[in-house]
Amino acid sequence: MTSDRTRTRMVERLKKQGITDEKVLEVMGHTARHIFVDEALESRSYDDVALPIGHNQTISQPYIVAKMTEILLESGSLSKVLEIGTGCGYQTAILAPLVDKIYTVERIAPLLKKAKNNLWDLKLKNISYQHSDGGWGWPEQAPFDGIIVAAAPEKVPDTLLEQMAIGGVMLIPVGSKNKQQLFKVTRTEDGYEYEELEAVSFVPFLSGRD
Ligand code: SAH
Repeated sequence: MTSDRTRTRMVERLKKQGITDEKVLEVMGHTARHIFVDEALESRSYDDVALPIGHNQTISQPYIVAKMTEILLESGSLSKVLEIGTGCGYQTAILAPLVDKIYTVERIAPLLKKAKNNLWDLKLKNISYQHSDGGWGWPEQAPFDGIIVAAAPEKVPDTLLEQMAIGGVMLIPVGSKNKQQLFKVTRTEDGYEYEELEAVSFVPFLSGRD
């Protein structure tokens, strides 16, 4: 269930779904996903579904993780990436080998702790963690050339827009509980460009810390 073969099948499915970036496919193919979910759900860990990780949150479906990573990398090599919504850390694990440094923010303390342990077990060291409301971004480390948001606000937070580097890209789901669109926001010399990508389903972006 948790073997290389199951992961190879997941990668084949990702290719059929339109993921083409070889680097992304390679990392997805060798990163264990079952360690991020509860033992009872391990047998489903490579299915293309979001699964519960406790605290009313979910691990994102593999296709969405691959898609967001692929788009983020289209703009070239990334030295500083801000991730909002660490959850159990799966998206972080996929991004970490592909960028220089990740700053990841999670508002639920026990989830952040779990993510830290998982990512430590995978020997991923280029990650800084913060228990905070991601609506504040991470001002001390801004600007970022990539921002990836795993929870959906009703509108893009201004704070995150301000923390983008010129030429930087942000991937963010925007909308209400049942109707969200994934946006790619690019910061240019003159302002921001918005590209609407596809319909998605993320947990809501909540304020404050738990
Ligand atoms: N990246 C995860 C997905 C986690 S689900 C993965 O790879 O599977 C989204 C996460 O966003 C949840 O853990 C939730 O607690 C967190 N979240 C929601 N609003 C947030 C906010 N304002 N700041 C930080 N984290 C937030």
